[in-house]
Amino acid sequence: MTADDNADLHQSSPEPSRLLPILNQPATRRTALKAAGAALGLAAFGKAVSPLWSIPENVSVDEFLQQHYKELSDTDKQKVFARLESETQQKLGVEITISDPPPIPGVRYGYAINLSKCNGNGACMEACNKENNHHRGVQQSYIRVLELPKGTMDMEAGNTTYDHTVPQDDKYYMPVQCQQCDNPPCVTVCPVEATWKEEDGIVVVDYNWCIGCRYCEAACPYHARRFNWEEPEIPSDEINPDQGYLSNRVRPQGTMEKCHFCLHRTREGRLPACLEACPTGARVFGDLNDPESNINWVLQNKRVFVLKEELGTQPSFFYFFDS
Ligand code: SF4
Ligand code: SF4
Repeated sequence: MTADDNADLHQSSPEPSRLLPILNQPATRRTALKAAGAALGLAAFGKAVSPLWSIPENVSVDEFLQQHYKELSDTDKQKVFARLESETQQKLGVEITISDPPPIPGVRYGYAINLSKCNGNGACMEACNKENNHHRGVQQSYIRVLELPKGTMDMEAGNTTYDHTVPQDDKYYMPVQCQQCDNPPCVTVCPVEATWKEEDGIVVVDYNWCIGCRYCEAACPYHARRFNWEEPEIPSDEINPDQGYLSNRVRPQGTMEKCHFCLHRTREGRLPACLEACPTGARVFGDLNDPESNINWVLQNKRVFVLKEELGTQPSFFYFFDS
C-alpha cells in the first residue's frame, strides 16, 4: 500500500470526534493538525511534522483511527497491545510484551539527586537509553547531565556536551530530566490532550494520540521533552522486550516523548533504571505519601531545592547537597 492509498482510506473512514480545549470547538486529530499548521505557519509546521502531513506507510489505519487512550475499554486496550506486539514482531522480528500497569492507589512518586555525590559519569543517561528503547542513532536519553561551574546555579548555562574526564575540580554535575510537575505547562498547551498527569504524579504521553505539533516541547522550562525526528533504529538484540504502553515501547516517528519515571518498572515495585545504574548512589526515589520512604527522609533532613521554582510548575523532582 502506498502513502496515497493510505491517505484515501483515512479520508473515507469515520474519525473519532474530540473537543479541543484550546480551540473550544468539536474537532478531530486531522482538524487539530490543520489548526496547528495555521498557528505555526505552514512551512514551519510542515517541516516539524512532515511525517504526519500525509499519513506515512508505517502508520496503519487501525493505529491512525485509534480512540483516545483514556476512552478505551480494558478489552480495547488489550487489542491495541496485541496489535502493537504483532507489528513489532513483523517490523523488527522481536517478541515483546506490552502492558500498562496502572498507578498504585495512594502512591505519589518523587525523585531527588544528591549533587554532592553526582560526578557526571553519565551512567544514568546510558541506562535510560537502553531501558527505554531510545533511537540509537543519536544516543538519545531523557536525561541531560549539566556540567556547571561551582558556585553557580544557572541550569541554562550548563554544558551538556563535555567530553573529558570527570569530575573536574572546579565543576559540579546536575542531571536534569522531566520534573513531573504538579502544575505542568506541557499538559495545558497540548491541543489534543495527548499528554496528561496520572494519579501517582507521572506525566505521560500517548504516542498514538500525539500529533507532533511540539507545543509541549516549547512549553517545558526544563527542556525535558524529545521529538522523534526519525523512525527509531534499535538493533533487534538490544530491544528491551518488557514494554509499557505509556512508557518505553518503541515510539513512532513524529511524536513527542519524555521521562516517565520508568513507570513500567516503578509501578511494579522496581526502581528507575537510571537510579539502579548510578555508581555513586546520588539518586533517591520513592513514594512521597509514605512517611518512611527514602525520598521523605531526604525531604525532612536535607535542604532541598527545585529548579526554576519561580515559575510555579511545582516539580516532584528535588536537588540537594550534603552540606
Ligand atoms: S518537566 Fe517539562 S515535560 Fe516534565 S512535567 Fe514539567 S513541564 Fe512537563
Ligand atoms: S526514570 Fe527511567 S525514563 Fe526517567 S530518566 Fe530515569 S531511566 Fe529514563
